[in-house]
Amino acid sequence: MALSRTIEVGPDRHGRSVAIVDGRVASAAPAGAARLACPEGEIAPGAVCAHTHMYSGLAPHGMAAPDPPPETFLQILERVWWRLDRALDADILRAAARDYAARALLAGTTTLVDHHESPNLIEGSLAILAEVCEELGIRALLCYGASERNFGREEAKRGLGECRRVAPSPLLRGLVGLHASFTVSDATLREAGDLARELGTVVHVHVAEDRADVEDARRRGAAGPLERLLSLGALPPGSILAHGVCLSEDEARLASAAGCWFVHNPRSNEGNRVGYARTLSAASKVALGVDGWNADMAEEEAALLRLARQHGDAGVGGRLAAGGALAAERFDAVAAALAPGALGDLVVRQEGKARHVVVDGRLAVEDGVLTGADFASIAAGARAEAARLWARMAAI
Ligand SMILES: [Zn+2]
Repeated sequence: MALSRTIEVGPDRHGRSVAIVDGRVASAAPAGAARLACPEGEIAPGAVCAHTHMYSGLAPHGMAAPDPPPETFLQILERVWWRLDRALDADILRAAARDYAARALLAGTTTLVDHHESPNLIEGSLAILAEVCEELGIRALLCYGASERNFGREEAKRGLGECRRVAPSPLLRGLVGLHASFTVSDATLREAGDLARELGTVVHVHVAEDRADVEDARRRGAAGPLERLLSLGALPPGSILAHGVCLSEDEARLASAAGCWFVHNPRSNEGNRVGYARTLSAASKVALGVDGWNADMAEEEAALLRLARQHGDAGVGGRLAAGGALAAERFDAVAAALAPGALGDLVVRQEGKARHVVVDGRLAVEDGVLTGADFASIAAGARAEAARLWARMAAI
Protein backbone atom coordinates (compact mmCIF):
# COMPACT_ATOMS: atom_id res chain seq x y z
CA MET A 1 0.00 0.00 0.00
CA ALA A 2 1.97 2.97 -1.28
CA LEU A 3 -0.33 5.45 0.43
CA SER A 4 0.26 3.98 3.88
CA ARG A 5 3.50 5.95 4.14
CA THR A 6 1.75 9.14 3.09
CA ILE A 7 0.31 11.66 5.53
CA GLU A 8 -0.19 15.38 5.92
CA VAL A 9 0.56 16.69 9.40
CA GLY A 10 -0.69 20.10 10.48
CA PRO A 11 -1.35 22.87 10.55
CA ASP A 12 0.33 23.24 13.94
CA ARG A 13 -0.02 26.26 16.21
CA HIS A 14 2.36 28.20 13.96
CA GLY A 15 0.26 27.34 10.90
CA ARG A 16 2.91 24.94 9.61
CA SER A 17 2.01 21.77 7.72
CA VAL A 18 4.31 19.02 6.49
CA ALA A 19 3.34 16.58 3.74
CA ILE A 20 5.00 13.17 3.59
CA VAL A 21 4.59 11.01 0.48
CA ASP A 22 5.96 7.44 0.36
CA GLY A 23 8.03 8.12 3.44
CA ARG A 24 9.71 11.31 2.23
CA VAL A 25 8.78 14.94 2.83
CA ALA A 26 7.03 16.40 -0.21
CA SER A 27 5.80 19.83 -1.21
CA ALA A 28 2.19 18.64 -1.11
CA ALA A 29 0.19 15.54 -0.23
CA PRO A 30 -2.11 13.91 -2.79
CA ALA A 31 -5.86 14.41 -2.47
CA GLY A 32 -7.33 11.94 -0.02
CA ALA A 33 -4.10 11.51 1.99
CA ALA A 34 -4.45 10.84 5.71
CA ARG A 35 -4.37 14.05 7.76
CA LEU A 36 -3.27 14.69 11.31
CA ALA A 37 -4.31 18.10 12.59
CA CYS A 38 -2.32 19.47 15.52
CA PRO A 39 -3.53 23.03 16.15
CA GLU A 40 -2.14 23.08 19.70
CA GLY A 41 1.15 21.33 18.97
CA GLU A 42 4.39 22.24 17.31
CA ILE A 43 5.92 20.22 14.46
CA ALA A 44 9.64 19.51 14.87
CA PRO A 45 12.08 17.15 13.15
CA GLY A 46 12.31 13.69 14.69
CA ALA A 47 15.30 13.38 17.02
CA VAL A 48 18.20 11.14 15.99
CA CYS A 49 20.18 9.21 18.57
CA ALA A 50 23.46 8.76 16.73
CA HIS A 51 25.04 6.08 18.96
CA THR A 52 23.43 3.62 21.32
CA HIS A 53 23.14 -0.01 22.39
CA MET A 54 19.58 -1.39 22.46
CA TYR A 55 20.92 -4.56 24.08
CA SER A 56 21.46 -2.63 27.31
CA GLY A 57 17.76 -1.69 27.44
CA LEU A 58 17.07 -3.78 30.54
CA ALA A 59 19.74 -2.07 32.68
CA PRO A 60 17.26 0.44 34.16
CA HIS A 61 15.10 -2.49 35.30
CA GLY A 62 17.10 -3.22 38.43
CA MET A 63 20.63 -4.11 37.36
CA ALA A 64 22.73 -4.46 40.52
CA ALA A 65 25.85 -2.35 40.95
CA PRO A 66 28.99 -4.40 40.33
CA ASP A 67 30.87 -5.63 43.36
CA PRO A 68 33.66 -4.72 43.85
CA PRO A 69 32.96 -1.29 42.30
CA PRO A 70 34.98 -0.68 39.10
CA GLU A 71 37.74 1.89 39.32
CA THR A 72 38.74 2.10 35.67
CA PHE A 73 36.96 2.20 32.34
CA LEU A 74 38.18 -1.30 31.49
CA GLN A 75 36.82 -2.60 34.79
CA ILE A 76 33.43 -1.05 33.96
CA LEU A 77 33.46 -2.96 30.68
CA GLU A 78 34.66 -6.23 32.23
CA ARG A 79 32.38 -6.22 35.29
CA VAL A 80 29.22 -4.78 33.71
CA TRP A 81 28.81 -4.58 29.93
CA TRP A 82 31.03 -7.52 28.88
CA ARG A 83 29.16 -9.72 31.34
CA LEU A 84 25.76 -8.43 30.28
CA ASP A 85 26.46 -8.93 26.58
CA ARG A 86 27.58 -12.56 27.13
CA ALA A 87 24.40 -13.24 29.13
CA LEU A 88 22.05 -12.16 26.32
CA ASP A 89 19.80 -14.76 24.72
CA ALA A 90 17.16 -14.19 22.06
CA ASP A 91 14.25 -13.55 24.46
CA ILE A 92 16.27 -11.18 26.63
CA LEU A 93 17.59 -9.28 23.61
CA ARG A 94 14.11 -8.93 22.12
CA ALA A 95 12.66 -7.67 25.42
CA ALA A 96 15.52 -5.19 25.89
CA ALA A 97 15.23 -3.83 22.36
CA ARG A 98 11.43 -3.50 22.53
CA ASP A 99 11.55 -1.63 25.83
CA TYR A 100 14.40 0.62 24.65
CA ALA A 101 12.89 1.45 21.25
CA ALA A 102 9.41 2.01 22.71
CA ARG A 103 10.73 4.53 25.22
CA ALA A 104 12.80 6.21 22.50
CA LEU A 105 9.74 6.71 20.29
CA LEU A 106 7.65 7.99 23.21
CA ALA A 107 10.38 10.59 23.84
CA GLY A 108 10.23 11.74 20.19
CA THR A 109 13.33 9.92 18.94
CA THR A 110 12.73 8.61 15.43
CA THR A 111 16.13 7.10 14.56
CA LEU A 112 18.51 4.90 16.56
CA VAL A 113 22.06 4.35 15.33
CA ASP A 114 22.66 1.09 17.14
CA HIS A 115 25.85 -0.80 17.92
CA HIS A 116 25.12 -4.37 18.96
CA GLU A 117 27.15 -7.13 20.65
CA SER A 118 25.99 -10.50 22.02
CA PRO A 119 28.97 -12.90 21.84
CA ASN A 120 26.90 -15.99 22.65
CA LEU A 121 24.16 -15.02 20.17
CA ILE A 122 25.87 -13.58 17.12
CA GLU A 123 24.00 -15.12 14.16
CA GLY A 124 20.43 -13.85 14.04
CA SER A 125 20.92 -11.10 16.62
CA LEU A 126 20.48 -8.27 14.11
CA ALA A 127 17.34 -9.94 12.76
CA ILE A 128 15.84 -9.65 16.25
CA LEU A 129 16.68 -5.95 16.40
CA ALA A 130 15.34 -5.45 12.87
CA GLU A 131 12.04 -7.15 13.73
CA VAL A 132 11.62 -4.97 16.81
CA CYS A 133 12.28 -1.78 14.84
CA GLU A 134 9.80 -2.79 12.13
CA GLU A 135 7.21 -3.78 14.73
CA LEU A 136 7.39 -0.45 16.57
CA GLY A 137 8.03 1.67 13.46
CA ILE A 138 11.34 3.26 14.45
CA ARG A 139 14.14 3.98 11.98
CA ALA A 140 17.51 2.38 12.71
CA LEU A 141 21.03 1.80 11.48
CA LEU A 142 22.09 -1.65 12.69
CA CYS A 143 25.47 -3.32 13.03
CA TYR A 144 27.21 -6.04 14.98
CA GLY A 145 30.34 -4.73 16.71
CA ALA A 146 32.97 -7.25 15.68
CA SER A 147 35.51 -8.04 18.38
CA GLU A 148 38.12 -10.67 19.22
CA ARG A 149 37.91 -10.19 22.97
CA ASN A 150 36.10 -13.46 23.83
CA PHE A 151 36.82 -16.07 21.16
CA GLY A 152 39.50 -14.51 18.93
CA ARG A 153 39.52 -14.03 15.16
CA GLU A 154 36.67 -16.47 14.55
CA GLU A 155 34.43 -14.29 16.75
CA ALA A 156 35.33 -11.22 14.67
CA LYS A 157 34.64 -13.03 11.40
CA ARG A 158 31.23 -14.12 12.68
CA GLY A 159 30.50 -10.54 13.84
CA LEU A 160 31.35 -9.13 10.42
CA GLY A 161 29.30 -11.89 8.80
CA GLU A 162 26.29 -10.87 10.86
CA CYS A 163 26.63 -7.29 9.51
CA ARG A 164 26.00 -8.69 6.01
CA ARG A 165 22.57 -9.97 7.01
CA VAL A 166 20.72 -6.68 7.54
CA ALA A 167 18.18 -6.43 4.73
CA PRO A 168 17.61 -2.78 3.81
CA SER A 169 14.03 -1.57 4.19
CA PRO A 170 12.43 1.88 4.26
CA LEU A 171 13.26 1.94 8.02
CA LEU A 172 16.53 0.01 8.14
CA ARG A 173 20.09 0.15 6.85
CA GLY A 174 23.07 -1.95 7.84
CA LEU A 175 26.47 -0.67 8.93
CA VAL A 176 29.67 -2.59 9.56
CA GLY A 177 30.47 -2.60 13.26
CA LEU A 178 33.73 -2.90 15.13
CA HIS A 179 33.86 -2.88 18.90
CA ALA A 180 37.02 -0.76 19.17
CA SER A 181 40.60 -0.72 17.95
CA PHE A 182 41.85 -2.27 21.19
CA THR A 183 39.89 -5.53 20.85
CA VAL A 184 40.66 -6.36 17.21
CA SER A 185 43.64 -7.33 15.06
CA ASP A 186 44.88 -5.57 11.93
CA ALA A 187 43.30 -8.30 9.81
CA THR A 188 39.83 -7.66 11.28
CA LEU A 189 40.20 -3.91 10.73
CA ARG A 190 41.12 -4.47 7.08
CA GLU A 191 38.21 -6.85 6.59
CA ALA A 192 35.75 -4.41 8.17
CA GLY A 193 36.75 -1.61 5.81
CA ASP A 194 36.64 -3.95 2.80
CA LEU A 195 33.20 -5.23 3.82
CA ALA A 196 31.81 -1.71 4.26
CA ARG A 197 33.04 -0.75 0.78
CA GLU A 198 31.61 -3.96 -0.69
CA LEU A 199 28.20 -3.31 0.91
CA GLY A 200 28.20 0.42 0.11
CA THR A 201 28.02 1.37 3.76
CA VAL A 202 30.27 2.72 6.51
CA VAL A 203 31.94 1.52 9.70
CA HIS A 204 30.58 2.26 13.20
CA VAL A 205 33.22 1.97 15.92
CA HIS A 206 34.18 3.24 19.39
CA VAL A 207 37.31 5.42 19.12
CA ALA A 208 39.43 6.85 21.94
CA GLU A 209 36.68 6.55 24.52
CA ASP A 210 39.39 6.07 27.14
CA ARG A 211 43.18 6.28 27.40
CA ALA A 212 43.31 2.46 27.29
CA ASP A 213 42.34 2.53 23.59
CA VAL A 214 45.09 5.07 22.84
CA GLU A 215 47.74 3.15 24.80
CA ASP A 216 46.83 -0.11 23.06
CA ALA A 217 47.17 1.47 19.60
CA ARG A 218 50.58 2.90 20.57
CA ARG A 219 51.74 -0.52 21.77
CA ARG A 220 50.83 -1.79 18.30
CA GLY A 221 53.00 0.92 16.73
CA ALA A 222 50.31 3.40 15.65
CA ALA A 223 50.12 7.04 16.75
CA GLY A 224 46.66 6.30 18.15
CA PRO A 225 43.46 4.33 17.41
CA LEU A 226 42.24 6.80 14.79
CA GLU A 227 45.52 6.63 12.87
CA ARG A 228 45.49 2.83 13.17
CA LEU A 229 41.95 2.59 11.76
CA LEU A 230 42.75 5.01 8.94
CA SER A 231 46.02 3.34 7.96
CA LEU A 232 44.28 -0.05 7.66
CA GLY A 233 41.48 1.34 5.49
CA ALA A 234 38.83 0.71 8.16
CA LEU A 235 37.08 4.07 7.88
CA PRO A 236 35.33 4.67 4.54
CA PRO A 237 34.02 8.25 4.22
CA GLY A 238 30.90 8.70 6.36
CA SER A 239 32.06 6.24 9.03
CA ILE A 240 30.74 6.83 12.53
CA LEU A 241 33.20 7.25 15.39
CA ALA A 242 31.67 7.13 18.85
CA HIS A 243 33.31 9.21 21.60
CA GLY A 244 36.73 10.60 20.52
CA VAL A 245 37.27 11.72 24.13
CA CYS A 246 41.06 11.20 24.05
CA LEU A 247 41.82 12.67 20.63
CA SER A 248 43.77 15.85 19.93
CA GLU A 249 42.26 18.67 17.88
CA ASP A 250 44.56 17.67 15.02
CA GLU A 251 43.17 14.14 15.18
CA ALA A 252 39.58 15.45 15.22
CA ARG A 253 40.42 17.42 12.07
CA LEU A 254 42.12 14.38 10.51
CA ALA A 255 38.95 12.32 10.96
CA SER A 256 36.88 15.15 9.48
CA ALA A 257 39.18 15.35 6.46
CA ALA A 258 38.51 11.61 5.98
CA GLY A 259 34.76 12.35 5.95
CA CYS A 260 34.01 10.71 9.31
CA TRP A 261 31.27 11.54 11.76
CA PHE A 262 31.91 11.84 15.47
CA VAL A 263 29.21 11.08 18.02
CA HIS A 264 29.44 12.83 21.37
CA ASN A 265 27.88 10.90 24.29
CA PRO A 266 28.16 13.35 27.19
CA ARG A 267 26.16 11.49 29.87
CA SER A 268 27.96 8.21 29.23
CA ASN A 269 31.40 9.86 29.25
CA GLU A 270 30.58 11.61 32.53
CA GLY A 271 29.18 8.41 34.07
CA ASN A 272 32.22 6.36 33.03
CA ARG A 273 34.58 9.15 34.20
CA VAL A 274 36.53 9.06 30.94
CA GLY A 275 36.54 12.85 30.49
CA TYR A 276 34.78 15.44 28.36
CA ALA A 277 35.18 15.25 24.57
CA ARG A 278 36.56 18.78 24.34
CA THR A 279 38.36 18.48 21.02
CA LEU A 280 35.29 17.41 19.03
CA SER A 281 34.54 21.10 18.51
CA ALA A 282 37.48 21.03 16.04
CA ALA A 283 35.64 18.41 13.94
CA SER A 284 33.23 19.31 11.15
CA LYS A 285 30.56 16.60 11.62
CA VAL A 286 29.52 15.88 15.23
CA ALA A 287 26.19 14.31 16.22
CA LEU A 288 24.74 13.44 19.61
CA GLY A 289 24.34 9.95 21.04
CA VAL A 290 23.50 8.33 24.36
CA ASP A 291 25.68 5.17 24.38
CA GLY A 292 23.01 2.98 25.97
CA TRP A 293 21.44 5.58 28.24
CA ASN A 294 17.74 6.28 27.62
CA ALA A 295 17.25 7.77 24.16
CA ASP A 296 15.50 10.95 25.28
CA MET A 297 17.58 13.37 23.24
CA ALA A 298 16.30 16.44 25.11
CA GLU A 299 17.84 14.97 28.29
CA GLU A 300 21.08 14.23 26.48
CA GLU A 301 21.21 17.71 24.98
CA ALA A 302 20.62 19.29 28.40
CA ALA A 303 23.57 17.28 29.74
CA LEU A 304 25.65 18.37 26.74
CA LEU A 305 24.91 22.04 27.39
CA ARG A 306 25.62 21.68 31.13
CA LEU A 307 28.96 19.95 30.55
CA ALA A 308 29.93 22.27 27.68
CA ARG A 309 29.45 25.25 30.02
CA GLN A 310 31.55 23.58 32.72
CA HIS A 311 34.34 22.94 30.22
CA GLY A 312 34.18 26.32 28.47
CA ASP A 313 33.25 24.62 25.19
CA ALA A 314 31.32 27.05 23.00
CA GLY A 315 31.37 24.77 19.94
CA VAL A 316 28.55 22.30 20.65
CA GLY A 317 25.60 23.99 18.89
CA GLY A 318 23.73 21.95 16.31
CA ARG A 319 24.89 18.50 17.43
CA LEU A 320 21.38 17.13 17.93
CA ALA A 321 20.26 18.41 14.52
CA ALA A 322 23.44 17.03 12.92
CA GLY A 323 22.18 13.52 13.65
CA GLY A 324 19.45 14.16 11.08
CA ALA A 325 22.10 14.77 8.42
CA LEU A 326 23.89 11.56 9.44
CA ALA A 327 20.68 9.57 9.03
CA ALA A 328 19.91 11.29 5.72
CA GLU A 329 23.34 10.26 4.38
CA ARG A 330 22.68 6.59 5.02
CA PHE A 331 19.14 6.69 3.56
CA ASP A 332 20.09 8.85 0.54
CA ALA A 333 17.69 11.57 1.64
CA VAL A 334 17.90 15.36 1.61
CA ALA A 335 19.80 16.46 4.73
CA ALA A 336 17.77 19.61 5.53
CA ALA A 337 15.15 18.56 8.08
CA LEU A 338 11.55 18.59 6.85
CA ALA A 339 12.56 19.97 3.43
CA PRO A 340 11.18 18.23 0.33
CA GLY A 341 13.10 14.99 -0.14
CA ALA A 342 14.02 14.69 3.54
CA LEU A 343 13.15 11.64 5.62
CA GLY A 344 9.48 11.73 6.63
CA ASP A 345 10.25 11.69 10.36
CA LEU A 346 8.72 14.28 12.65
CA VAL A 347 7.39 14.91 16.13
CA VAL A 348 4.43 17.00 17.21
CA ARG A 349 5.40 18.40 20.60
CA GLN A 350 2.87 19.74 23.01
CA GLU A 351 3.42 20.92 26.60
CA GLY A 352 6.99 19.63 26.49
CA LYS A 353 6.00 16.11 25.43
CA ALA A 354 6.02 14.17 22.18
CA ARG A 355 2.29 13.87 21.44
CA HIS A 356 2.53 12.40 17.94
CA VAL A 357 5.55 10.76 16.32
CA VAL A 358 5.71 10.04 12.58
CA VAL A 359 8.48 7.88 11.14
CA ASP A 360 8.77 7.29 7.40
CA GLY A 361 5.30 8.76 6.92
CA ARG A 362 3.68 6.39 9.43
CA LEU A 363 2.29 7.29 12.84
CA ALA A 364 4.41 5.43 15.40
CA VAL A 365 2.98 7.33 18.38
CA GLU A 366 -0.49 8.87 18.37
CA ASP A 367 -1.69 10.94 21.32
CA GLY A 368 1.19 9.65 23.41
CA VAL A 369 0.40 5.98 22.69
CA LEU A 370 2.47 3.55 20.62
CA THR A 371 0.62 2.35 17.53
CA GLY A 372 2.78 -0.75 16.86
CA ALA A 373 2.58 -2.51 20.22
CA ASP A 374 1.15 -2.28 23.72
CA PHE A 375 3.56 -0.43 26.01
CA ALA A 376 2.30 -2.06 29.21
CA SER A 377 3.01 -5.53 27.84
CA ILE A 378 6.43 -4.41 26.59
CA ALA A 379 7.29 -3.11 30.06
CA ALA A 380 6.00 -6.30 31.71
CA GLY A 381 8.10 -8.40 29.33
CA ALA A 382 11.14 -6.25 30.13
CA ARG A 383 10.72 -6.80 33.88
CA ALA A 384 10.38 -10.57 33.44
CA GLU A 385 13.37 -10.92 31.13
CA ALA A 386 15.44 -8.57 33.33
CA ALA A 387 15.10 -10.98 36.24
CA ARG A 388 16.40 -13.78 34.00
CA LEU A 389 19.25 -11.58 32.77
CA TRP A 390 20.48 -10.76 36.29
CA ALA A 391 20.50 -14.45 37.14
CA ARG A 392 22.44 -15.31 33.97
CA MET A 393 24.95 -12.51 34.62
CA ALA A 394 25.51 -13.73 38.17
CA ALA A 395 26.41 -17.15 36.78
CA ILE A 396 29.10 -15.74 34.45
ZN1 LIG B 1 28.90 2.69 22.80
